[in-house]
Amino acid sequence: MFVVRPAGPADFDTLMELAVLSGRGFTSLPEDEPTLRERLELSAASFEGAVAPPEAERFFVYGRGGKPCRRCRAPIETYQLGDPPRWTRSCPGCQARTEDNRSR
Ligand SMILES: [Zn+2]
Repeated sequence: MFVVRPAGPADFDTLMELAVLSGRGFTSLPEDEPTLRERLELSAASFEGAVAPPEAERFFVYGRGGKPCRRCRAPIETYQLGDPPRWTRSCPGCQARTEDNRSR
């Protein structure tokens, strides 16, 4: 049986292990303790209905060019990708780019 529940402070050790083992690009879990604890507190408050974040707070890169990555704090890059080209954003620390799309 599966149970859906909010993550909480008791889940810290397991989530930190998951963040470290999965590596960058596979999870949005931060590998630093203060940020992960902050996220767990926000998660618990959110499930209690105590948090109503602005819509923009949901996005990790969209609309955040030049701002620090929520995970690793590197500045979010903005560039054009595809044909026809479209503005795209990604974190240089968390989202690896191939040589192909770096040259565009
Ligand atoms: Zn990042």
